[in-house]
Amino acid sequence: MISQQIQTAAYLFAGILFILSLGGLSSQESAKKGVFYGMIGMIIAIVSTVLGEGVDGYIYIIVAIAIASVIGIIVARKVEMTSMPQLVAILHSFVGLAAVLVGFGSYLDPHTQEITGSEHTIHLIEIFIGVFIGAVTFTGSIIAWGKLDGKIPSKPLAYKGRHIVNIVLVLIAIYMGVLFAGAEGTEGMLYLYVMTGIASFIGVMLVMAIGGADMPVVVSMLNSYSGWAAAAAGFMLGNDLLIITGALVGSSGAILSIIMCEAMNRSFLSVIFGGFGDVPVGDAKKPEGEVTSTDHEEVAEMLAEAKSVLIVPGYGMAVAKAQYPVHDLVKSLQKEGKKVTFGIHPVAGRLPGHMNVLLAEANVSYDIVLEMEEVNDEMAETDIVLVIGANDIVNPGALEDEASPIYGMPIIEVWNAEKVIVMKRSMAVGYAGVQNPLFYKENTDMLYGDAKDSVDKINSFLRK
Ligand code: NDP
Repeated sequence: MISQQIQTAAYLFAGILFILSLGGLSSQESAKKGVFYGMIGMIIAIVSTVLGEGVDGYIYIIVAIAIASVIGIIVARKVEMTSMPQLVAILHSFVGLAAVLVGFGSYLDPHTQEITGSEHTIHLIEIFIGVFIGAVTFTGSIIAWGKLDGKIPSKPLAYKGRHIVNIVLVLIAIYMGVLFAGAEGTEGMLYLYVMTGIASFIGVMLVMAIGGADMPVVVSMLNSYSGWAAAAAGFMLGNDLLIITGALVGSSGAILSIIMCEAMNRSFLSVIFGGFGDVPVGDAKKPEGEVTSTDHEEVAEMLAEAKSVLIVPGYGMAVAKAQYPVHDLVKSLQKEGKKVTFGIHPVAGRLPGHMNVLLAEANVSYDIVLEMEEVNDEMAETDIVLVIGANDIVNPGALEDEASPIYGMPIIEVWNAEKVIVMKRSMAVGYAGVQNPLFYKENTDMLYGDAKDSVDKINSFLRK
């Protein structure tokens, strides 16, 4: 058992470590250190909470931590890099569920019933808001998991008047809150259950209404909600560290959502309120022209001739695990004195920073990994672009076709280079479900096949 003062000091120290952790995660070079700070902070947080005053039943806590740790280790070891987004989404749902359960438990706790006056009312408001945020996060994250996993179609499910329905539901939830605050003893449980049902439905509808291309913002937004749910749980439990940690996650998630919205040219409010208004939804134009394809030997020859090569990776590179042969390709081109760079779109793949993680995994040097704006500026001077498993992020329809669901999203304008090679297995659409006119452009050739196989074959031709 540790004293209140020691616990406060430990919480403060853990809080500082969490801030250092977030700071570390902001760049690839310091990310490992950031994760380490986070782990130490979390160990200090758990130990100082468990050893704090008023905690008993250690055996249950130890058994719960042991079971959860084993599950966590197995899941983290087994999960494929391509399934990380789904894992993140489902973990967000756990935070939401935890906030709901903490809220129920806190309301039924006999200590809550002993508090009186304005302190009691404030505690009830904390519970009510905490459960509301938790339930929205819980069901919203489950739907996000389904959409990212392909179990739920990525097309937005939007019915007319849904915003009115949502507003009416929120008003009913507020009314439930008034009844809840005025209820005697634990009689308010019924109102809490009704509001939880309403909030769960709102969570489902908010995420169902968002189209595939806007999912990156939903993922970061649910990350933010999960932080606020944790902060709300912190208020309910009177745990300062949980409030601090939740607020850190909530605000960093909100900042990330704003950055993603800016990167995708979407209005933040439109995304939070489930595709409010300004996102065009329609059938994109059918591309016109002829599709031409090439083979590995020809691509190797073109690369041998080129002076500057740009590689634009997308989700397919993650699926194919092509980052390793891609790095070999880069090394052999650089050896020949060619300029090789990577162009990273902010929403490439299925997670913010997905491509950067893959390239770092394959030890690609950070200084040749450039952002979308930088490579767009230099596109006209680029001899050849290799689009590896990317689709939506290089779709010219985003600039030209107002009916396209991705209209308005900035993209990597690869067709402004002299030659474009698109490596993918077929003519299939990307995550947003729209055809890509890039494949029909005169200076584009398709190189069909699994991205890893294709890059391996090109490498072997280059070695000959
Ligand atoms: P896309 O999903 O648009 O396209 C990926 C392409 O990769 C597919 O068209 C597929 O074509 C191809 N592919 C799949 N497997 C392989 C393989 N083994 N070898 C070669 N190619 C393969 O990916 P982008 O990265 O271009 O765009 C990301 C999309 O995901 C955007 O719409 C974005 O909004 C969305 N999104 C992004 C998130 C994020 O945070 N980054 C989160 C959620 C969604 P084929 O089947 O023909 O091979």
